[in-house]
Amino acid sequence: MTTSPVRRFLDRLTGRRPAPAAPKGWVCAVCGQTHDDLPAVGFLGPLAWEVASEQERADDFDLTTDTCIWKDEHHFVRGVLELPLTDREGVLSFGVWTSLSRDSFFRYLPTFEEENEGDRIELPPMFGWFSNSLPGYPETLSLKCMVHARTGGLRPLIELEETDHPLSVGQRQGIPFREAVAYVHAHLDL
Ligand SMILES: [Zn+2]
Repeated sequence: MTTSPVRRFLDRLTGRRPAPAAPKGWVCAVCGQTHDDLPAVGFLGPLAWEVASEQERADDFDLTTDTCIWKDEHHFVRGVLELPLTDREGVLSFGVWTSLSRDSFFRYLPTFEEENEGDRIELPPMFGWFSNSLPGYPETLSLKCMVHARTGGLRPLIELEETDHPLSVGQRQGIPFREAVAYVHAHLDL
């Protein structure tokens, strides 16, 4: 069986970190079992990295847990996109990547040093292109977004441009808890 890029994304989905204020010990309407948290849906790198061969990754990419440079031309950061739950506390959280301009990236980069983190307060919201394909949505690659740097060791918050794309609508209006649960069941091994 050939492995499609989408399948590879799914295979590489990571992240079992509890979302903040996730409900504890709830009985799942999908599988009937008790879960402790709503897992985050996370990506180890931007799409370009995900679909690259091992050789290409070694030659062309400089990837860390928070940053990625591709061929010295394309610059990405890992951030957090959150869909608020409409009917209880918490969020469905995605660990996803966006591109940044070279200028934005290199203004941002020094603040990953702990002693410089305070400088993030000076950073304006930065424009980016959403750089992952989220399963279960119409294509999300290259959606426009703004990247909001945060202090306190938090990854930047990614805010999608206000459009009628379901992910953008979900970010603004939230989604019901049962929909979030169904989503993680469909796309993670919960
Ligand atoms: Zn379940």
